[in-house]
Amino acid sequence: MKFLFKLMEAFGTSGNEESVRAMISKEIKPYVDDLSVDKYGNLIAHKKGALPKVMLAAHMDEVGLMIKSIDDRGRIAFSNVGGIEPLVLVGHAVHINKKGNKVHGVITTEEVSNDFSVEKMPKIADLFVDTGLSKTALTKLGVKPGEYLMLDHKVNHHLGNKNLIAGKALDDRIGCYILTELIKKIKSSKNEIYFVFTVQEEIGLYGAKTSAYKVEPDWAIAVDVTNSDDRAPQPTIELGKGPCLTIKDADMISNKCLNNHLENIAKKIKIPIQYDVSDFGATDAANISISKEGVSSTVVSVPVRNLHSTISIAHKNDIENSITLLRELLKNPPKLCLT
Ligand SMILES: [Zn+2]
Repeated sequence: MKFLFKLMEAFGTSGNEESVRAMISKEIKPYVDDLSVDKYGNLIAHKKGALPKVMLAAHMDEVGLMIKSIDDRGRIAFSNVGGIEPLVLVGHAVHINKKGNKVHGVITTEEVSNDFSVEKMPKIADLFVDTGLSKTALTKLGVKPGEYLMLDHKVNHHLGNKNLIAGKALDDRIGCYILTELIKKIKSSKNEIYFVFTVQEEIGLYGAKTSAYKVEPDWAIAVDVTNSDDRAPQPTIELGKGPCLTIKDADMISNKCLNNHLENIAKKIKIPIQYDVSDFGATDAANISISKEGVSSTVVSVPVRNLHSTISIAHKNDIENSITLLRELLKNPPKLCLT
């Protein structure tokens, strides 16, 4: 899973996906018939085949932070890009990339920096970055509002369990990794397949909207991650128990025919699957499914713990099983899921 670790190390907050896109382009170029970047920034890889047209989407972007303002003392206020819990940010090391030179800082609050005890949960507006530099020094370095703050991490570690992967941006570098593996493994495809690496999912599923309009798929699958609840007394989604099929989330009801087809394939090749019926969250599939006249769509996702925090945790088997399931699906595509 070396390429997954590389993808996790790349920084690609929504609107800043260039380095992730370059990394994926380089990796998949030898294996696809066409590779292009659309006007919005999505990377579209095409493998030729017969109709119907299939679209598999994974988003390149991750949640993160952007500089909002710098006060007279050099304290940097920031805005969140996508859903990120302020609680996990306190004490976090960050850096600002200035042409290869890093300006390092740490996220703190008034209470923490003054030795008061924190009495209520901080909001983003209560937090700031301390770089140890004055406003003048930061301005001289070219640090200004609108720039991204990169959250520093030790990535690619397994906690106490070699079967686990813990690190940043598992949402959705896991999906990007699954798509790149499929691209490499599928030598000849039955259908026209478009592997789309989307931008700006975390702030509104936008890349999926423009790319689905362009690709005009007949059916589609978003490959993403979903929240596990394996610490609950009666868990419904657990790490290591297989990929999840979304039945519904906050924004869509998945296509029943596609889900039945995936279920049958999983049974045939003896891959465990789990069902995701969720009140929260949405994926690229929501926007793909309502593109033009509508597209039969569903979501295959890998369960993770700590979704939208700075370090998430996934199980290797769920990633491997997702690849096997989707590979088998593309070998045996559904015949009647076009409505
Ligand atoms: Zn996601």
